[in-house]
Amino acid sequence: MQSSSSYSTNALISLLASHLADSPDKILFRFLDDEMPITRQDFFSECEKFCAFFQEIGVQPDDRIVVQTPKSSKSLSLYIGAIMAGGIYIPLNPDFTDAEVSYYLNDSQPSVFICMSERKESLFKIAAESNVPNLYTLGIDNSGTLPQEIRTTNAIFIQEVARQDEDIAAILYTSGTTGRPKGAMIPHRALGSNAITLCAEWQYTEQDVLIHALPVFHTHGLFVATNVALVSGAEMLFMDKFDVDKTIQAMPNATALMGVPTFYTRLLQHPALATAAEKMRLFISGSAPLLAQTHEEWTQKTGHAILERYGMTEANMITSNPYFGNRKAGTVGIPLAGISVRITSEESLQEVAEGQVGSLELKGPNLFTGYWQNPEKTAAEFRADGYFISGDLACQDEDGYISIVGREKDLIISGGFNIYPKEIESILDELPDVIESAVVGVPHADFGEAVVAILIIEEKSTLKQSDVIDYVSSQLVNYKRPKHVAFLTSLPRNSMGKVQKNILREQYNSLFS
Ligand code: AMP
Repeated sequence: MQSSSSYSTNALISLLASHLADSPDKILFRFLDDEMPITRQDFFSECEKFCAFFQEIGVQPDDRIVVQTPKSSKSLSLYIGAIMAGGIYIPLNPDFTDAEVSYYLNDSQPSVFICMSERKESLFKIAAESNVPNLYTLGIDNSGTLPQEIRTTNAIFIQEVARQDEDIAAILYTSGTTGRPKGAMIPHRALGSNAITLCAEWQYTEQDVLIHALPVFHTHGLFVATNVALVSGAEMLFMDKFDVDKTIQAMPNATALMGVPTFYTRLLQHPALATAAEKMRLFISGSAPLLAQTHEEWTQKTGHAILERYGMTEANMITSNPYFGNRKAGTVGIPLAGISVRITSEESLQEVAEGQVGSLELKGPNLFTGYWQNPEKTAAEFRADGYFISGDLACQDEDGYISIVGREKDLIISGGFNIYPKEIESILDELPDVIESAVVGVPHADFGEAVVAILIIEEKSTLKQSDVIDYVSSQLVNYKRPKHVAFLTSLPRNSMGKVQKNILREQYNSLFS
């Protein structure tokens, strides 16, 4: 493992700069349509322009820069430009509703907010209510007020702001079992160390061409995919979103794919998969459990064993199946270099025996520094000896391979997106006539899991399934909307009064399978 001091000046930027010096004209982003490729030089000068502009408008180290724009290569130069200016980059899902954006702006108190032109009217109003001083728009085609301002001010890039290991590069919001989403503060040390470790572990070089089809507001697409490509000097075949046909079309000119399990289950249905995958070097899956059956079918069809890895917003990547060696279906592999993982008993807090299920805890340079302005929550998630409590339940086999067997946190993962029931339950409880609610995830053939909402309502209520779905749709992003709403007369509870979600899950288990 590298010593943490290697990351004192942002490792990403210095590695980028060295790639740039080596071959400025090497392609960094290529597209499937007619769009012009983007070279290292093109990309880096965009990053510098954003950095210079932020410096000119007075962005200070640690100022937050919140960005809610569609995926584009520009959004990635904005990410690098923001951290070069010493800012803390906060990407938001472009589908978040106005109400959701309002929460994030109030919580993070940014000095800059950048959104898409189409939603300028309502979002600028919301941002003004949160006292955000600098508001801009940015479109995929370089339209919007931000590029306009950059052209007119002509701010010149001189130097990026020096940052230390523990300085925060980004905040990614992640939901919890209680309360609203929390901002995980990701330091430069975590980004630099994880990108370097993953490049070595997965044998990434500048000869690689990565199919980048993941969203760039989440750790998987923003840090794992992008940072690995930037640090190794690899090219990205860049797609605005995952599409089965386009991914199949991209494979003959690519070497690697990173995806969530839904990518793989959908690609398996394509008749041209085996031929398309012939020259690929590596298929990586993560963010949700990959069924052993999918792993096996993929190997049968393509001759490639999918490499499954495990990570989370707060810790970047934690474990991986080996590049060389046995990639065991149904496991997430072994801890990455420099990261210590232990599995402990909830009662004794001691490590459990091989094969026993316990709470997965970890420590290493990949870890976040805490939740934004939430020291109590931060303290509650760490053990006294510095181990972070992941909230996942896991066990380890005789070869040290880890399997994630459940979640202490009751998390639902649908199409690779994380959904915490509590957030939806709070919205449901706002509806008139709702006495109480429970939200669970049930197996779904396409999405992995689907959201089911169970409501207890007043006897004479006329509330219908469509009213519930309409209301949730007005408040939350589409993947959090229930796929089924059930009305019961009471919720099953244990002797401590806790709702027994396992019973509810069993009840609706075969709804979508
Ligand atoms: P996020 O913070 O959105 O990255 O979600 C992290 C959570 O996703 C973890 O705590 C796990 O519950 C789950 N997760 C990520 N990768 C895997 C995997 N390969 N297998 C099972 N669960 C996973």
